[in-house]
Parts: sequence; C-alpha cells; structure tokens
Amino acid sequence: MKLTIHGAARQVTGSMHLLEVNNYKILIDCGLDYERERHLQSNEDFPFRPSDIDVVILTHAHIDHSGNLPTLIRLGYEGQILSTAPTADLTELLLLDSVSIFMNKANKGRKHGRNRGKANSGSQPLYLQKHVMDTMERFVTIGYNKPFRLTGDVELTFIPAGHLLGAAAAVLKVNDNGQEKTIAFTGDIGRKDYPVLNDPEPLPPVDYLVSEATYGGRYHTKDRTVEQALVETIEKACIKEQGRLIIPAFSIGRTQSLVFALNKIFSSGLLPAVKVFVDSPMAVMATRIFRKYHYLVNDEAQEFYNKQGDEFEFDNLTYVETLKDSRQVSNYFEPCIIISSAGMLEGGRIQDHLFYNIQNYYCTILFIGYCAKGTLGHRLLRGDPIVHIKDRDLAVYATIKQTDVLSAHGDHDDLMGNILSQDKSKLKTVFLVHGETSSMDTLATSIEGAGYKAVVPEKGVDYIL
Ligand SMILES: [Zn+2]
Repeated sequence: MKLTIHGAARQVTGSMHLLEVNNYKILIDCGLDYERERHLQSNEDFPFRPSDIDVVILTHAHIDHSGNLPTLIRLGYEGQILSTAPTADLTELLLLDSVSIFMNKANKGRKHGRNRGKANSGSQPLYLQKHVMDTMERFVTIGYNKPFRLTGDVELTFIPAGHLLGAAAAVLKVNDNGQEKTIAFTGDIGRKDYPVLNDPEPLPPVDYLVSEATYGGRYHTKDRTVEQALVETIEKACIKEQGRLIIPAFSIGRTQSLVFALNKIFSSGLLPAVKVFVDSPMAVMATRIFRKYHYLVNDEAQEFYNKQGDEFEFDNLTYVETLKDSRQVSNYFEPCIIISSAGMLEGGRIQDHLFYNIQNYYCTILFIGYCAKGTLGHRLLRGDPIVHIKDRDLAVYATIKQTDVLSAHGDHDDLMGNILSQDKSKLKTVFLVHGETSSMDTLATSIEGAGYKAVVPEKGVDYIL
C-alpha cells in the first residue's frame, strides 16, 4: 500500500491524497489550492494522469477539498465520486459558486487587462457550469457508518466528523497482499457542542492516520458559549448603542449555526427581538439542504424543531434573496443584525454593507471566522484606519470585533484527543496535513511526546505502508 500527499502538504488548502492498494488508485479529496489561486491554471497540473485514478472519495463539501473535482473530470477522470448525500448537495452549490467567481475574475481581467477587449486577456475560468454538471453525475452517495466495498481488497466507511453537514472521516480497511491494514483520513475535524451539528464520532482503531492540523498549537476560548458571546455583542451594538451589527459569515454551515443560535437567544427571551437579515441567496439554498437532511442535525436542534418549529426561522428574521431587497437593507434605520457573505469580505454582498456602514460610529462588525492575509477582513482585523472598498478609500469608524466561538475546526486539544483515543501499539504513523508548518510542527511534537509517531509529509513523496 502506498500513500502520497499531493495537496495540503505543509499548507492549509488543496487537499489531495493518493492511496494505491495493489495497483488500485484511490484519490481522497481533490481541493482547490488557494495558495496557487493567483495562477488558477496551475490547478490543472495534476501529478498523475486523471484517467489513471480508479475512484475518488470526498470527505466534505468545502472548496479546499472539493473545488478541483471538475478539473479532474475535464482532464479525463472517468470514475465515481463517493461521498455522503449532504456532501454531494452542498458540493454542487459550492462548485457553481466557484464558477461564478471564476467568471467574475475573467470579466474583470478583460475590463482592466492590457489587452482590453480581447477574449483571452482575462484569467480563464478553471472550469465551467457544464463541467460542474458532469461532476455531479459521478456522485455515488453512502450513509454514515455503513461499510461500502470498493473492490475485493478495499472497504470504505464514513464516520461523522462534525465540521459541516455531511462531513466525514474516510476509514479504509485494506487487504494488502494478504495483510489487513486500516487507514483513516480525517478530512476536517469539527468541535463538540457546535450549534446544529453532531459531535465528531471517534474513529475505529487504525494502523495509519492522515489527520488535519489546522488548529495545531492553538486553543479555542472556552470561557463562554456561542450564545453568551453573541448576547454580549448584540446587547452592546444593537440595544445600548442602538446601532447595527454586521456579521460576515460563510453562507454554508456557519450561517445556519449562527441563525439557530440567534433563534435560541430570541425565543428564550435572553434579548428583546432585534431585526435580523440574512443577506445571501446561497445561504437560502444551503438552508434548504440543511432542512432536507434534518435527520442529521444534533439532538438539541431536533428537540427545538419538535417543540418550537423550524430552527432556521423566527419572527424577526428575514432572508434576503434579490439584489433589490439587499439594497433596501441599507435603508433600514432601526437597530439590526446583518449576516452576509463572503466571510473574509472579499466580494459578495457584504461589500455593499461595509461600503455604507464602515464610517458609521454606530456600527459593529463581528468576525466569526478566519481571514486570510491579503483580504479586506484581515486588514480590518489588524486595525487599518483606512480601507479600500469599491474603488474608494474609507476611514474605519465602525467597531471591529472577533470571536472564535463559531470556528468549525477542533483545536489542539480536540486534534490530540482524536489521536490519544487510538491504540498506541496499533497506530504506526500519524501523517499531518492541512495546516501551516508551525501548527503541524507543534502538533507533531505533542503527538511524539504522547508516544506516537508523527510525520509532516512533503508534497509528492511516496510512503510505503
Ligand atoms: Zn472544511
């Protein structure tokens, strides 16, 4: 059996791992590499022939795990894509959104490029809608905890991973020339007690573990719950100051958890009703998918639904779909909460809301997710006094706040807990992926300190297991 980490090696994005068992080639995840995004076309350079891959396993829908699948298919992959059912539905939404982002970039390139007006002067889309449709036809969905035989030698089981609706760790039981071996790929690992989502389930005993390491060496604040953190901010921003609270949030996953937390706050009378706008058509579509797979939400959300009805609806909540209605939100002068995307403030309707509110002393912007360097979100968080939005330099008078209570990744302790639950005499090696080098090094040191073997693999190096 041979393992090669072809993506998310010593970096966060672009997850892509190849496992070969008796010449049967299994690709686990096929994500877009943001670090290469400036040169989008470099995502076409697969280190293998796409037609040589026998099967693809997708751990979850996030674009850094799924976003290069249409390229793989465009370049000749002919097999199936195995995932849970919610992952298939959410992936379709996210891939179509990627196509719109590519098209916008291409159009911008054409407008501003040196060869203005020429068809090829912009950055070319990596794939088109028809490639996304071709990709969706390949999905075969599998339930959680139901072993699925890929070949006579390989069996796949998806274990719930929290993190996002449908997210799973992929556990492969392999017969390697008569020897039984088990290898698990964690995908991304979620947190316990996360609104709407079930806790990650423990993995069965494995011989090899390929683990994410995003929060290696970092710890989430545990002194307050999601609701406590939100109540504190809303009370100050919307009730005491009578202003507006803008929360940039990813439309898929983060927004649904946030809406449920707000629903609990208002329905239990912890705060008087404040108008809430969810301004994102994609969030509306994603919420439909959450309703479709309602049997997968956690007990708290199920109970709420049985007693009080839809956890994604409440009286003072409005979902905004059209652009016209989105503009009307800016004219709403009562205190309110606006939830909009994109989370890092790069594009999307959030830019309009910031444009109109960044100079407003009575506006608070609450960041609930990670903002990569170079994004507007990152500039606001580091305290830039003037920011550039929509071709204008604007002074920042709004209050900028941040909380990690809604981070969808487990922290150092959660990652270690996943490893410590494994039998030391059975688990031979933990391979760390999907993290910055410093996070991986810190996590590797803790793993070694606990008596397990950890490897931070280099991209493209083969490991014979
Ligand atoms: Zn993820």
